[in-house]
Amino acid sequence: MRHSVPLTDDTLQPRPEFNPDLIRRYDRAGPRYTSYPTAVQFSSTLTAHQVRQLAHHSNEEPVPRPLSLYIHIPFCATLCFYCACNKIVTRNTQKAVTYLDYLYREVAMYGRLFDDDRRVVQLHLGGGTPTFLQPDQLENLITHIGSYFRLTDDIQRDYSIEIDPRTVSHQTLDRLQQIGFNRVSMGIQDFDSKVQAAVHRIQSPKETLDLLRYTRSQGFRSTNVDLIYGLPFQSVTSFSRTLDQLLEVMPDRLSIFNYAHLPHRFAPQQRIQEADLPDSEEKLQILGACIEQLTKAGYIHIGMDHFARPDDPMVTAAQEGSLHRNFQGYSTHARCELIGVGVSAISQIGKSYSQNSKDLFSYQEMIEDNQLPITRGVELSRDDEVRRDVIEKLMCQGEVNLPDALARHHIAYADYFQAELRRLEPLAQDKLVTVSGRGLIRVSPAGRYLLRNICMIFDHYLESHTEVSRHSRVI
Ligand code: SF4
Repeated sequence: MRHSVPLTDDTLQPRPEFNPDLIRRYDRAGPRYTSYPTAVQFSSTLTAHQVRQLAHHSNEEPVPRPLSLYIHIPFCATLCFYCACNKIVTRNTQKAVTYLDYLYREVAMYGRLFDDDRRVVQLHLGGGTPTFLQPDQLENLITHIGSYFRLTDDIQRDYSIEIDPRTVSHQTLDRLQQIGFNRVSMGIQDFDSKVQAAVHRIQSPKETLDLLRYTRSQGFRSTNVDLIYGLPFQSVTSFSRTLDQLLEVMPDRLSIFNYAHLPHRFAPQQRIQEADLPDSEEKLQILGACIEQLTKAGYIHIGMDHFARPDDPMVTAAQEGSLHRNFQGYSTHARCELIGVGVSAISQIGKSYSQNSKDLFSYQEMIEDNQLPITRGVELSRDDEVRRDVIEKLMCQGEVNLPDALARHHIAYADYFQAELRRLEPLAQDKLVTVSGRGLIRVSPAGRYLLRNICMIFDHYLESHTEVSRHSRVI
């Protein structure tokens, strides 16, 4: 255990301030801004041909960006009722064998697009459940990736995998480390047995904590755990018990997601009884108590729903202003070309976002035809780029200098954000932000838990209400 490490956030003053009244007032649906424009704006007008061209252009930049690879493994052995991910629930392991064959071919297609000397600084296997694959299959996959991309054993690399604590053993963790993974992420959600039964995810706290301790003792660079608040039967007391158990191990990073109950969009959620869910007032109290508990334990709020120990590189990046945001959430690596491989995976190449087919059959068919399996996306306009820049700065650094952002994108028009500055005024009156006469916007301590509301001011696409309703709420 690392309780003995001094936990202090002196360098990250002032501390974010949880203000229930403001959160209640600003509780509305909005994007999490892992991209801008968000996926809602993707359309079929972006073609695989454009993406290929953008990849070629990126090789020709004076200093080509490093690469980040995301590999989507969609299979899960059992269904969690809260799930909103793109996954295939099956116990038929043969499906993974067929899928890997297509994945290999897609890796090869992308590998041929990018110059050999571009280093992969970030690699993430997500899902679904990546550990649905056997260790040998994972090893072969990484070896295959290594024959098309320049993988590294640099200590600074972020090679991570989402593991299912219900099925992963110490031996598997050892293998993952030998294969080259230096970070793991595990879903926990809640240790309470009644909550676990209601969401169909039975997971022993003892075994999960044991696994967490083991990752630490084996020198994994960091371990992230995901929790969800707002699940059936949760209360302030029950969720606090879960946190107490978790804080015995002090994971490096914690993501505390808000459960958005949208059974009309996500069929598994129809198995959750609405009457069993905590109401929004109780959720707010759970969130407040959770933040207090984590803060007391020494965790630093990174932004949105992410917390980290003060000795985690993410905290250093936040302090140094080098934090970034992409589809995997917050990242310590400067903007990379993000190559998403697998069904439904999203890439960020040059000035574009592109998404693979969400349908396994058409994904495989497109690869059979030797095509990148891209079905939709967006190429960013200059306006999109400057807004993405502004939103990322607010999300990661908690401040943005508008004239500087405009200058970075060669936009000289001084009144460019005049309408946004007007819309920001009520937020400034509520002390979520301060706005200087020179266009410097600073998120206040109270605004830190309402980051997405502040960013939404700069979102050109949110003017239509239909766009807003596609996203989850603050609480
Ligand atoms: S929550 Fe994760 S493990 Fe559960 S069904 Fe969804 S993708 Fe699979």
